[in-house]
Amino acid sequence: MSSQVLQVRAISKSFNQNKQQQIVALESVSLTVRSGEFVSLLGPSGCGKSTLLDLVAGLIGPDQGDILLGEHSILGKRGFVSYMPQNDLLFPWRTVLDNVMIPLQLQGIPTEKARQQAQEFLPLFGLANFSQSYPDMLSGGMRQRAALLRTYLCHKDVMLLDEPFGKLDALTKVQMQQWLLDIWQHFKHSVLFVTHDIDEAILLSDRIYLLSSRPGRIQAEISVDLPRPRRPRIATDGAFTKIKEKIYGFLEG
Ligand code: ADP
Ligand code: MG
Repeated sequence: MSSQVLQVRAISKSFNQNKQQQIVALESVSLTVRSGEFVSLLGPSGCGKSTLLDLVAGLIGPDQGDILLGEHSILGKRGFVSYMPQNDLLFPWRTVLDNVMIPLQLQGIPTEKARQQAQEFLPLFGLANFSQSYPDMLSGGMRQRAALLRTYLCHKDVMLLDEPFGKLDALTKVQMQQWLLDIWQHFKHSVLFVTHDIDEAILLSDRIYLLSSRPGRIQAEISVDLPRPRRPRIATDGAFTKIKEKIYGFLEG
């Protein structure tokens, strides 16, 4: 059995919306991600998914709870995980190559070397011919691949991805999911993936945590024991539908 790389332990978080009103975004949320595992957080809009990723990335602190990477607490600490936030904008004034190499520069690698290293990954991310393009010239899918490559080049064991395909049209989305599965099988990262799309969660994941609407609580943990590699048409299999029924069961209470 593989070890747990990430452990979120009884995390609660509330926000002051204005002087009087406090809203509870997350209530005692616990979850784990094992080494090399693909885990999804599935929940409705506003249930605290992005907040949870911000907490794991150390961008904000919780009211209660702890977050462990391996043995050590990373509570409030940045730089331990790769994070692709929901509104991940590429810098419009930088070319694709100069955007994706940013994490390498931040690691202290000199500019030319960073550029060279980043360049090597462009073909795998379907961007070989676009290194000198600016983000505005790219399709939605290509922009997301560039943002994913930039996240990947942070070179951390755990990747947090916040609805990376949420804004794509259905067909592009299917292509991107397939591509992400291939990339993931290639690199064997541990992934914590946020989505509100049930099919997407089943297609991609080893396990799914279902979050309730606000305040976000873990409502169920669902294992997805479908064979890999998976192709989009797996969504028409009986085993896939069974898992979907189970999720709808939880949603209907
Ligand atoms: P999700 O990603 O699941 O859509 P979020 O984590 O973005 O949900 O937000 C959860 C709740 O917390 C929402 O009601 C949102 O308005 C609130 N919230 C998130 N960030 C802040 C903040 N910085 N200040 C106040 N409220 C916030
Ligand atoms: Mg969100």
